[in-house]
Amino acid sequence: MQFSDAFSKKHLIIDGGMGTMLQSAGLPAGASPDVWNITNPDAVRAVHAAYLAAGADVITSNTFGSTTPRLKRITHKPAELAAAGVRLVKEAIAASGKTAYAALDIGPLGEFLEPLGDLTEEEALAFFREPIEAGIAAGADCILIETMSALDEALVCVKAAKQYGAGLPVLCTLTYSPAGRLMTGETIETVVAALEEAGVDALGCNCGVGPEQLVALLPRFTACATKPLVMQPNAGLPEYQDGQTVYLVGPDAFASEMQKLAQGGVWGLGGCCGTTPEHIALVTKLAKQD
Ligand SMILES: [Zn+2]
Repeated sequence: MQFSDAFSKKHLIIDGGMGTMLQSAGLPAGASPDVWNITNPDAVRAVHAAYLAAGADVITSNTFGSTTPRLKRITHKPAELAAAGVRLVKEAIAASGKTAYAALDIGPLGEFLEPLGDLTEEEALAFFREPIEAGIAAGADCILIETMSALDEALVCVKAAKQYGAGLPVLCTLTYSPAGRLMTGETIETVVAALEEAGVDALGCNCGVGPEQLVALLPRFTACATKPLVMQPNAGLPEYQDGQTVYLVGPDAFASEMQKLAQGGVWGLGGCCGTTPEHIALVTKLAKQD
């Protein structure tokens, strides 16, 4: 089954939050979730299995931070974590008996490119190359670049995915404010034009805001995008309780907003921080009604 078949589906259900799920399975706050691909694979597979049971068509590898700048105090190498992450997704899919795609997840490096930061484009390209080549070799079906908050970094990552990604489809989502701007100031319209020019296969947004804010921003995406849209909001805007960030939009409220996105033409529907298999199960159910 090729990922290209997914583009003929009206809606593609993507999974939800991973970090928050692993924390409830005992991952200490601040610890690298990706290391669990090696040290606690059962916990990672269990999250994948729960999203498969919830009806997700796309299972995202636990490799958001599998890049050299994010692994400074960690002995595991990006390639090792990325390969293990994709393998766990494939094992969970095989064990479920379902048909689903394995997405290689690539997150931001956590450093700014020049001139805002010190990172050169060549360095960033080399950092993205490591997990991309390893994840592809492990059998990923597509590359999902997410939570990018700077356009230049997103474009370098897309370039790496096109260059080292063996021709697999590239999906790229960035994080916007409720006003539709990146942290670095670019608008939705500027970002969409740049990503389409760079040759992505699907694009949209994830993290940052909840589904309600994306419903409000959707007309701006549909007005300028020609590629399929992917939206993976958080379970609401972040709130702070006892020094912790929490997301309080429950499965019902989340799914009813996601249904509006589905009806508005969004193709890829999933969740980010604070979303759980319960959220995704309801999204699956409501998206089918569209
Ligand atoms: Zn998030």
